[in-house]
Amino acid sequence: MNATRTRPKRLVHKAAPQLKVLYVCTEVYPWLKTGGLADVSAALPPALRLAGLDVRVLVPAFPALAQAASVCGAPIALPPGTADGPGPRADTAGTAAPWLQPANWHNLTTADASTCTPQVYLLHAPGLLDQPGNPYTDASGQPWPDSARRFAWLGWAAARLGTGLDATWQPDVVHGHDWHTGLSAAYLHALAERGQRVPATVFTIHNLAYQGIFGPEVMAPMGLPASQFGLRGLEFHGNVSFMKAGLQYSQALTTVSPTYASEITQPEQGHGLDGLLRERQAQLHGILNGVDGAVWDPQADALAPHAYSASNLAGKAVAKAALQIDMGLQADPAALLFVVVSRLTDQKGLHLLPQVVDELVQRGGQLAVLGEGDATIEQALRACAQRHPGRVALHKGYSEALAHRMVAGGDVIMVPSRFEPCGLTQLYGLRYGTLPLVRAVGGLADTVTDCSLENLADGSASGFVFHRLDADDLARAVRRAFALHARPADWQAVQRHAMGLRFDWARAAQAYAGLYAQLAQDVL
Ligand code: ADP
Repeated sequence: MNATRTRPKRLVHKAAPQLKVLYVCTEVYPWLKTGGLADVSAALPPALRLAGLDVRVLVPAFPALAQAASVCGAPIALPPGTADGPGPRADTAGTAAPWLQPANWHNLTTADASTCTPQVYLLHAPGLLDQPGNPYTDASGQPWPDSARRFAWLGWAAARLGTGLDATWQPDVVHGHDWHTGLSAAYLHALAERGQRVPATVFTIHNLAYQGIFGPEVMAPMGLPASQFGLRGLEFHGNVSFMKAGLQYSQALTTVSPTYASEITQPEQGHGLDGLLRERQAQLHGILNGVDGAVWDPQADALAPHAYSASNLAGKAVAKAALQIDMGLQADPAALLFVVVSRLTDQKGLHLLPQVVDELVQRGGQLAVLGEGDATIEQALRACAQRHPGRVALHKGYSEALAHRMVAGGDVIMVPSRFEPCGLTQLYGLRYGTLPLVRAVGGLADTVTDCSLENLADGSASGFVFHRLDADDLARAVRRAFALHARPADWQAVQRHAMGLRFDWARAAQAYAGLYAQLAQDVL
């Protein structure tokens, strides 16, 4: 496997005693990625290790992850997992073989394995987690019928690792990410109620809109105590909610930006869980995501061939010309090139785009979209491309390489989201001098500063920000982008400022480390 990531050698400051953290997630870039969570899970565990924590990762052995492990690391034998106690019943295991094997992926992510690459536990569950395709949904976008079982296993495995399954390594903190890991806290809570010593628990919300809700019939086979099926447990309007389990039973909650941490405590963005989140507000922290400089760096991007920097932007013009050719747009260096790299979902506010496309083109701009998802949004964008050949282009699909070339070659990256927990593409845009045009929600509000006259005057401007989720407000931001572009010196000053901003993982890792330390102290 070709490792695209290299990291600088850094000295590790080892706190004594070194806290052990089990990081539980379902996707890791570059092996398995459906969204920003994969980028986070590739970058945060190594950053935590650099911050001096002993972090290990638990992931399901989905085929892409199992394949990566089989190529790169020999599994080490662990005692077979047992299906006793709270947890999926024996019939869900369907096998007496070891279902949990740690695999050392040290040579997957970096040459600097000794310092920052975490060991990975790969959760095997034959017939359950080894199905091909997207880990969450079938080809038509419907959740897999055995989703509850899949992620109950993951939660149970986390709880077992948290309580001594690996005699050589027992975590002080179990840190789950998104609903797929929500049951780990529920199982640990059940074990604690039986008198077992359990680690501290942290649960991070990457997107509250996806909650993992299943009918009440899943409760019994999951092996959780019936008492958890209630208002103060994981019951949600008569169903089982994995997200609510994580929110209810974890000691600390985090989400990926300060603004989203506050937005989700209100009905508009609370997805029915705002009441619980208001109750737990004192334990809810907003910790902004970062940019992995080993993957996203305009001076050394393995997937975007034309390097450039804030002090020498010549390569950016070449990247733009190449992108125009790639996307079938007219070769037009003067055209203001707007790009979108996104899942095409209701969340992303892209239904507004077709309403501003005509004006964008009339003003001499171009639009290139890379994305896949909702058929209605896709059709509307395709109609725009047909109406404006050579000026608007849609590439339907998922392409990591094209995403890098879009971020490098664009002038403006649009993220007009309805809601946005953090958003990574605007951070990549900033780093690449591709000015973000964003709606002021969630992490977008926390990371982009509008090019208003006063912000231009004090040098803080880094992009274009609009507020209302309507085409008029979006169109005004598009006009601001054209107005700034007509003043090349100001445009470049904003670009340079944006490229100098640093949203790095070291800062986020320090914040998580502080939280872990506080929790571990309370547990001890
Ligand atoms: P979300 O997790 O809600 O999809 P983020 O902005 O947090 O949004 O992260 C999206 C990640 O997925 C980024 O790394 C972005 O570059 C990538 N991405 C989104 N759509 C595509 C696509 N069609 N092709 C390649 N990468 C994509």
